[in-house]
Amino acid sequence: MKSNVPLSMISADGALSLPMVAILNSAFDFSEVSLQHSRWVPYTTNWITRIPAYFSGIKQGSSIAAMVMGRYIIHNNNTDRSLNAWFALICHEQSHRSEVGLHGGLWFYIKYLLQSVRYKYRDIPTEVTAYSLQEKALQLTYANNGEVLNILESKTLTVTEKCDMLRGIGKRFSGS
Ligand SMILES: [Zn+2]
Repeated sequence: MKSNVPLSMISADGALSLPMVAILNSAFDFSEVSLQHSRWVPYTTNWITRIPAYFSGIKQGSSIAAMVMGRYIIHNNNTDRSLNAWFALICHEQSHRSEVGLHGGLWFYIKYLLQSVRYKYRDIPTEVTAYSLQEKALQLTYANNGEVLNILESKTLTVTEKCDMLRGIGKRFSGS
């Protein structure tokens, strides 16, 4: 089934576009390797994605937007998500991705399950981090009349030009 992700951010094969890697690496210090290895797949891709999606409640229109399974990010393929919201969601999930990478996949999920018993969803420590980055990412998309989204969506700039410009913006943003 067709994915509804914006192609300026996520390529047809589910990998983050080069300009997205450039801006997320420079603005939020996510490792390039982790960004390059992420794969976004709609929950409808195949039965392997449908099973975790079924149990976690991911479906089109549900409030659960996406979840990280190792390097794969299963998302609900919503059609009504704005570009700003997509950018912020990618940043949110990438925050989980970098924790999976740092502490090992299995430990991340065990800790998450234990903490989800103790805390409300929004108070789970890894969610606090992810939501704070999501909020910063949203601010970044609105800064300077939406320059980040304008560059990502540009039909005239080359990929190299986009990457160079976004790296400059990201560095300024992370230093501010
Ligand atoms: Zn989360």
